[in-house]
Order: sequence, then C-alpha cells, then structure tokens
Amino acid sequence: MENHEKETNSNFIRDIIDDDLRTGKHKEIATRFPPEPNGYLHIGHAKSICLNFGIAIDYKGTCNLRFDDTNPALEDVEYVDAIQNDIKWLGFQWDNMHYASDYFQQLYQYAIELIKSNKAFVCQLTPDENKEYRGTIKSPGKNSPYRDRSIEENLELFEKMKNGEFEEGAAVLRAKIDMASPNLNMRDPVIYRIKKVHHHRTGDDWCIYPMYDFTHCLSDAIEHITHSLCSLEFEDHRPLYDWFVDNVSSVSKPRQIEFARLNLTHTVMSKRKLLRLVEENKVIGWDDPRLPTVSGMRRRGYTPEAIKDFCERIGLAKANSMVDFSLLQFCVREELNKKAMRVMAVLDPLKVVITNYPEGQIEELQAENNPEDPEDKGRKIIFSRELYIEREDFMENPPKKYFRMSPGKEVRLKHAYYVTCNDVIKDDDGNIVEVHCTYDPTTKGGWSDDGRKVKGTSHWVSASHNFKAEVRLYDHLFNSEVPEEAGDFMEDINPDSLTYAENCILEAGLKDAEPGTHFQFLRTGYFYTDPIDSKPGAPVFNRTCTMRDTWARIKRNMKK
Ligand code: ATP
Ligand code: MG
Repeated sequence: MENHEKETNSNFIRDIIDDDLRTGKHKEIATRFPPEPNGYLHIGHAKSICLNFGIAIDYKGTCNLRFDDTNPALEDVEYVDAIQNDIKWLGFQWDNMHYASDYFQQLYQYAIELIKSNKAFVCQLTPDENKEYRGTIKSPGKNSPYRDRSIEENLELFEKMKNGEFEEGAAVLRAKIDMASPNLNMRDPVIYRIKKVHHHRTGDDWCIYPMYDFTHCLSDAIEHITHSLCSLEFEDHRPLYDWFVDNVSSVSKPRQIEFARLNLTHTVMSKRKLLRLVEENKVIGWDDPRLPTVSGMRRRGYTPEAIKDFCERIGLAKANSMVDFSLLQFCVREELNKKAMRVMAVLDPLKVVITNYPEGQIEELQAENNPEDPEDKGRKIIFSRELYIEREDFMENPPKKYFRMSPGKEVRLKHAYYVTCNDVIKDDDGNIVEVHCTYDPTTKGGWSDDGRKVKGTSHWVSASHNFKAEVRLYDHLFNSEVPEEAGDFMEDINPDSLTYAENCILEAGLKDAEPGTHFQFLRTGYFYTDPIDSKPGAPVFNRTCTMRDTWARIKRNMKK
C-alpha cells in the first residue's frame, strides 16, 4: 500500500495541462464527467468527479456532465436523476449537461462521412464468423468478405439498417482500419449495431445505436473538450479514439489521458455487481450505508469534504492499486471530529447505583458539545442515583492496566463525579446485573480539588432520563479484502455487516435529533441520524464509523 500523505494537488495530468497552456495549444481547459446512467455513482466515480471538476475549477475552465446513454437496454431516468443529485451533493456544478443521445443525428452524419470516404462498411458476418475473422492477440485477423463493398452499396445498406430492415445482429457498420493490427481494438471495430429497443430519451426514433468508442471521442470533439480523462482500461482504445477524431470533419481534437481506477478493499465497485447486491436484496437499495455508492456513503454519514479529502490523498497514479478502506474512514473521522456534536449513549448497558446519592434527586450538569469548537456553549445533562455505563467499562477481576471501573478503583464519570465501585450484584447464573458505587460529591464536573487523579473515564446515561432508539452498527460488507478473489463475491458477504445495538440507551436530548445530523457518541463512534427512516421524536442512528480503526486492530491481533 502506498503512502497517502497529504500533499499539493499537482499530478501528471495537471503537468500536461500546464504544458498545453504554456505552449498555447489551449487557452481554455474543458473537461467532462461522462457517466453511463446504468447505476448509481460510487466512490470510484467520485475520484473521477473530483479530478474533472477540480481541474475545471482550478484552471477556470469548464466541466460538462455528459450522460453516456448509448446502451438503451440498461439505462434509466432514475439513474440520471440520482447522478445529478450526487454530483451536486459532492459540491460540484457542471457548466453544461448533455446526453450522448443528443448527438445521435450528428454521429449518424459522421458515420455516413466515413462510408463516403471509404473508411466504413456494412458487415454481415454472423457473430461466430466474426469471432473467427477477428484473430487473436497472437494472430492477425482476416478481412471481412464484405469489406470491399462499394460506397454506394454501403450507403444503401446503412440506410436499411437505420430503417429497421435488418434483424438485430444481421448487420453492423464497421470502420475500415487494419485487421492485422496488434491492437484488437483497431481490427475494423464496430461503429453501429442494430438494437430494436426503446431508448429512455429518443424513444423509438432509432434502431441503430453507435458504439461507445465511436460515441465517446466524437461527443468530446463536439463539446470542444480539451482533455478527456478516463480510467486505465481505455488506454488500448486511445489509438481508436484518435482515429475517429482524425477521420471525421470534427474541428476540435480532444486528447484522451488515462489514470488508474480506484479500487477499495472489502467492497466491490462495478455497477454490475452493485446492481446484483441490490436486486438480490443483499442490501436495502443503492443507498444502503454499507455500499460504496455516493448515496450510501451520504446515508451512512460520510461528508462531501471527507470524500474529497480522500480523493486528494489517494492522488493520481498511472498504475492500478488497491486502497485500504480504513483510509476513507480516517478521512471521515478527521472531518467529523471537527463538526460532530459529542453526546453520551451506552450501546450495551450495565446498571450502576450510586448508593450515597439521595434517592429521587436529580441534578443538571454542564457538558461540552464540541471541544473543537471555540464558540461551544455546551448543554445540560441529567445525573441521578441510577445510571447506565457500557458493560465493557466494568470488570470484576481486571487484568493489569485495566483503568476502567472495577471493585475498589476510583474512576471518573464524564462531566459528573469520581465514583468507586464497592459491590457487584449477580443473578443466579452468576451474570453481573448491577454494580454499586459511592460518589465523591466534591468532584463535581469530574475534577478533584486535591489533585487526585483517576485514569479511567466512562460515559454514562441516567436511568431516569434517557431514551431508546434504533441504532444500526455497520461493518464491512465483505469479509475478504478483495471479495472477487475469494471466488463468487456474493459468497463473501459478511453476515454481520449490519447489526443493531438493541439495548442502546441514549441521553434524553437525542430524542429531538434532526434527521441528517452528525454525532459523536463519546468513545463509541460517529453516528448519523438516518435521513430517510428517522421520524420526529424517533430518530434512527447509523454508525458512520468507530472512533478508531477496530478492523485494523482485529487483523493485527489475528496475525499475532
Ligand atoms: P463500473 O465499472 O462501475 O460500471 P464504469 O467505468 O462503467 O464503471 P461509467 O459510468 O462509464 O462507469 O464511468 C464514468 C466515469 O467514471 C468514467 O470516466 C470512468 O472512467 C470513471 N470511473 C468509473 N469507475 C472508476 C473508478 N473505480 N476509479 C476511477 N474512475 C472511475
Ligand atoms: Mg462504463
């Protein structure tokens, strides 16, 4: 794994752009983000968005949003809307919004141009024949027997394709490049195929649809994109990108530059796989907080700032690599530490009775909301004779260096008092049901005048003033670092990726928590009120992340 120190945002793409500005090749920089509306955006797209929009902002250029909607069967308006929403949420605004389908007529004209200059032909090889003619990486392909058709015949057949006179698969339009090219993409690639399906924007206007390689570069050219940034798998397509741009009468000559895709541990990123998780109900939807989708991360309580910080830290590379999920969580923690309100909630409660505190008495104590905020005025919390602490904050027979509550040892209750446990109450089976303590009334606020120090501090919630809510604990969706490597990724799903803190007790004020608010539950993690399932007076809390990287710790322990 690489070193992800924060540094300047210079990178090899910005170097190219700087050069192009210096040499006068371009005066204005234009980029685009070109999602296919066949799924929701994920953290990999966020990387591409930060890159494309970030460049436009820094160079005072433009960035378009372009829906690459040339594959009608898989696309949907639901995705189109979600994509726009996610980009805006990340904090970016496109200059123009386009659809590749807006260019269908223009692209069709370009195809006719290619036919007229004898650079494209209608091919009627069957799929099996096509395979055979294509050759392999090691052996050259063979020219299609239809390759030398006259221009007139090609124009006529292409027209017939367009008019629906062929069945699907019966004919394609291909570029005439080089069947012996070592680059398979250059072996007379298909430009148009017949698909008799309804398109979400153009309806039934077309039954031929342009291929990605033809559409993408020419859409870039039409929009005067200067730098077309895409992920590494398109490197071998670059010669074809340039060939199309050079062989039609388009004025602008965009340049394709590739960068490494983002891969994250413990998750899958391809939309095809995400769709399977959604369709087979392994998650509650595209916005399930366990998914690496932008909408899932939003619902989990990640912030745009944290996601952008993450994208900056991973930087741009020319070689694919795997980034540890814990880096993303680190960025989220950094950000939430600044903005989240601190509150107390006990996930797994153990009752504590302060035997020398008067029965029926309560008192208001001052608690801070956020030590990172100089303007913080704090809030009042209720202390009483009976409280709850975290079960793991008590041990009857503790090992050395256990500083939390145990018989005879004085500890601090956060914002409240020093207390000492002097009795442990058990049920018939020997389970601890309650512990009895005494408190020192002179330590109000959690400090002692005589300078007496305690090592352990526990969070707590009053047994008389509190409230219960649904609290969801999220963990990695997959057990393996690279789920695909474990065989079928669906078999690698972590059965405990969502659990509930069923007995969780929260401080009373949280009852009124607004949906979409960040909290730090002291010592247990960052939580976010679910923006969809929370109701007035009944917030639902999603754990955004733990306070520290427990996963890394568990792994370290396993290795020992
Ligand atoms: P998927 O494999 O998830 O289906 P895709 O590449 O087919 O992704 P598109 O909608 O075509 O998805 O992608 C839009 C843009 O986002 C493209 O420029 C693509 O290169 C970029 N992109 C997609 N996934 C990643 C990723 N993991 N890292 C960086 N960029 C990505
Ligand atoms: Mg794609």
